[in-house]
Amino acid sequence: MQISEIIHGDVPSLSFEVFPPKVDSAFESVKDAAGQIAALRPAFMSVTYGAGGGTSRYTLDLAKSLGEEYGVPMLAHLTCVSSTKETVHARIEDMKAAGIENVMALRGDLVPGTENDDRSKWDYRHAVDLVRELKESGTDFCIGGACYPEIHPESTDSREDVKYLKEKVDAGCDFLTTQMFFDNDLFYNFLYRIREAGITVPVVAGIMPITNAGQLDRAIKLSGSFIPRRFKALVDRFGGSADAMKQAGIAYATDQIIDLFANGITNVHVYSMNKPDVAASIKGNLTCILGNKA
Ligand code: FAD
Repeated sequence: MQISEIIHGDVPSLSFEVFPPKVDSAFESVKDAAGQIAALRPAFMSVTYGAGGGTSRYTLDLAKSLGEEYGVPMLAHLTCVSSTKETVHARIEDMKAAGIENVMALRGDLVPGTENDDRSKWDYRHAVDLVRELKESGTDFCIGGACYPEIHPESTDSREDVKYLKEKVDAGCDFLTTQMFFDNDLFYNFLYRIREAGITVPVVAGIMPITNAGQLDRAIKLSGSFIPRRFKALVDRFGGSADAMKQAGIAYATDQIIDLFANGITNVHVYSMNKPDVAASIKGNLTCILGNKA
């Protein structure tokens, strides 16, 4: 099922992201954790592609097996900047063969030592190049793109960020998913700016539950997200206790999601970090709000 069919209405939907294992030996345990998340019957699930230098070998395996076993619509991520055209074309063929209908088209970050780290030889410079390739692939993929409520760290300013985002959407993105954010007002402002700029596709809000203090440091390093005072106080107070921080982090993420739904945002994607207990708690906190739909 295409994700655009799931997220187009005004009924709240909750979906989860998982990531493939970084080492081969972890495949079964990751598959098991992702399976427990799929068993929660989310609206859809995404599987990342080699983020942070991890292996991308298992993205499709995981997406295919979760889709087949649990009947959950799957979104497979694909990045392009570290790859040659040949590799990307092979991945697209693999996705077709695996019956993947939904692709998150990303630029990715350059990982030193990968096959194409000589900038002058890059076949792909931006995600928009991959979106165009997917559109020309002969398969009617539903295509997602990434967006950044607090602008992408490489963008000069918000105007430039939105200009290139519009170019990416016009090239064929059917929906956008945001980078994590911890202050909903930043997201509402972003939404206002992109709608003003004529970007009309659905935007899925990405929420990362922070369940330990170390995770927050990594998340900030990765995303540069603003940490509101209220959230910082919570981490300062509970960060030293694993159980307390987990409970507080789940409560904060739940609160963010309820505020989003209350303000008419219909689609929320939770960065589950492969933690079924966290995913289950958040889903459990929202059962009546979500009604029958995940
Ligand atoms: P782009 O859309 O290409 O944007 C990157 C920068 O280039 C921006 O500053 C943009 O304004 C600028 N730009 C875009 N087009 C042009 C142009 N034509 N000319 C000049 N400048 C331009 N990484 C992974 O490795 N694997 C994953 O699975 C993964 N999943 C992600 C999921 C989400 C929801 C998000 C938000 C990010 C994800 N990332 C992932 C991280 C992502 O790869 C990085 O943030 C990367 O730096 C940018 O990717 P992008 O697709 O947004 O790039």
